[in-house]
Amino acid sequence: MNTLIPDDDSPSRTPQSPDFVDDPSWREDALCAQVDPELFFPEKGQPSRDAKKICSTCDVREQCLQWAMTANQRHGVWGGLTARERSRLAQSRDAHVTTRNTEREDTIFQLHTASVPPTEIAQRFEITERSVHRIVKKARQRRQRSA
Ligand code: SF4
Repeated sequence: MNTLIPDDDSPSRTPQSPDFVDDPSWREDALCAQVDPELFFPEKGQPSRDAKKICSTCDVREQCLQWAMTANQRHGVWGGLTARERSRLAQSRDAHVTTRNTEREDTIFQLHTASVPPTEIAQRFEITERSVHRIVKKARQRRQRSA
C-alpha cells in the first residue's frame, strides 16, 4: 500500500467526509500499493504520467480522489489528478454550487415577485417560510448591487 495513504485515525480525516471516505477498506484495493510510492510524488517539473497511468486502471480511483479532495491533499497524485488539477476541480465545483444556489434564489425571488404565497414557495423548495423571506431579501440586495 502507498505508505503515504494515512491510516484510520489520521487527524487529516474529517467527520463530515462521505461514508465511503470514512470507510478505509478502499485502500486495500489501491493499485499504488504495488509500486514505489515515490512515483506518485514527482519532483517539480517532472511528469506525473506514470502515476496517472496506474490510477487510470485503479478500481478505487473515485474513492481515492474524494478522500484527497476532502483531506485537502496538497501534494502528489491522488485519484489520477495532480494537486493543481484537484485544486482546479475544487474551484469548478465551488463555482457550480454557487451558480446553482444563485439560480435557486432567483427562482424563489421571481415566484415571490409573481405573488406566489411564501407558504407555497416554502413547500415547493422544502424550506421554511423564514428561509423564503431571507432568500428573497438576499436576492433583492444582490439585484440592487448589480443594477
Ligand atoms: S487512484 Fe491512484 S493514488 Fe489512488 S489508490 Fe488508486 S493508484 Fe493509488
